[in-house]
Amino acid sequence: MERIQQGFQKRTVAKSRSRRVTCEDVKRFGKNNLFVLFTVAAVVVGVVLGFCLRKYHMNYRQVKYFSFPGELLMRMLQMMVMPLIVSSLVTGMAALDSKASGKMGLRAVVYYTTTTVLAVITGIIMVLIIHPGAGGKDKMHREGKFEKVHSTDAFMDLIRNMFPPNLVEACFKQFKTGYDRRKVSRAALGNVSHSPALFITNVTQAMKLLLEARDELVPVPGTVNSVNALGLVVFSVGFGLVIGAMKEEGRAVAEFFNCLNEAIMRLVSVITWYAPVGILFLIAGKIVEMEDMSVVGGQLGMYTITVIVGLMIHALIVLPTLYFIITRKNPFVFIGGMVQALVTALGTSSSSATLPITFRCLEDKIGLDKRVTRFVLPVGATINMDGTALYEALAAIFIAQVNNFDLNFGQILTISITATAASIGAAGIPQAGLVTMVIVLTSVGLPTDDISLIIAVDWFLDRLRTTTNVLGDSLGAGIVEHLSRHELQEMDLHANEQMKKPYKLMNQDHENERVLGSETTM
Ligand code: ASP
Repeated sequence: MERIQQGFQKRTVAKSRSRRVTCEDVKRFGKNNLFVLFTVAAVVVGVVLGFCLRKYHMNYRQVKYFSFPGELLMRMLQMMVMPLIVSSLVTGMAALDSKASGKMGLRAVVYYTTTTVLAVITGIIMVLIIHPGAGGKDKMHREGKFEKVHSTDAFMDLIRNMFPPNLVEACFKQFKTGYDRRKVSRAALGNVSHSPALFITNVTQAMKLLLEARDELVPVPGTVNSVNALGLVVFSVGFGLVIGAMKEEGRAVAEFFNCLNEAIMRLVSVITWYAPVGILFLIAGKIVEMEDMSVVGGQLGMYTITVIVGLMIHALIVLPTLYFIITRKNPFVFIGGMVQALVTALGTSSSSATLPITFRCLEDKIGLDKRVTRFVLPVGATINMDGTALYEALAAIFIAQVNNFDLNFGQILTISITATAASIGAAGIPQAGLVTMVIVLTSVGLPTDDISLIIAVDWFLDRLRTTTNVLGDSLGAGIVEHLSRHELQEMDLHANEQMKKPYKLMNQDHENERVLGSETTM
């Protein structure tokens, strides 16, 4: 009876407590999540405003003026990216000892590879089950043109960009192989003209052959205007490791980058005040600008649905399950803390531009260890793109389906590998995945011109895959932190001991002085 009464009392106390807490909680929740609420409200208002303004049929100039506040947000965020990547990686690597950074790096790489492969598999399964490309491509709407890229050149460009010859140039340019028509040598022409049969039987055909033989497409070095994030990441990781290994000697440089990082993060918190306004106009502007959605019917509509379902499965089932299995923590609480970054990704369609906000959410809201975020996040934002990998594999198979091109197992495997490579090579900027799609298509001999079939919906799918990319990077940081907790604790202990050492020595000196003093007085 007593126990029942105790139980009842406990429950009543708990109830009244929870009632009191709820009231305070609402206020605190409002205060803490003001920006999140503003950002989510900005998306809703942006969508409504965009659809309301569509009936006014604004011209290109008007749309550009209207989207100006959104463009400013993109520029502000992009302004932060380069110093943020360099400073966070240098300090992140310098703060870790070589053993810890090696283990953490390995865990991050295993996570990136596993999740990207899982994303590709999900994409392939979805497109094979739903089969959105049934019915051919004759009636489909086309938009834009795509230049051809040789897969080997694209792969070599990826490696070239890891080692920029000029670090200053890497802050605004990337290497990209271009193609030039060059005349072939006289000897080659001689071979054709020495074929008398051609002249005798069909002169026109022979002339055509001769003209074709004169020009050859050769790869030439070129550049594109975009931050070479991969090159900066490689340099900063190496530089940070060396600074860390230099211990005392490297301390001044490490402190400089640490201070730079703190300063950039303070600037980022100022930008977050403006973020909701920018996101509102980015979204509204895009909706005003978008083509008539009547083109999104039939196969394109089914393709859009397939990509959305695939991304949802990966983002809401696969990644959270992985997080739960490894950390035993509720993944949705984690995702709840990421809302602002996810909405920013949705608004900007750029994982690089979202990086400053991702940092803020993970460090300030979720409270992840800075030694992990500073290392894992910039690398993740540059090379880990689950959404893009899923989309590239799915889109390539969709294009094969509309061409009635039967893919065998080997070709599907080739698509998976090239889609993974293409997602690593894609920059974290809007619609970069569409460009690297060319690599996937050429690897299995699919027509690259058919990318024009999916452009109409890409602006929308890009936003969703960017959100998935950011979520993948963030959950990855959570998982790596959990797996590295012992090393981090060890490092903390070691640091505490080092801090105590001078005190110990000082105390020892005092003690000696005291003993000596008492001895002399005696
Ligand atoms: N926009 C994507 C990102 O920034 C890349 C892509 O086009 O898939 O993550």
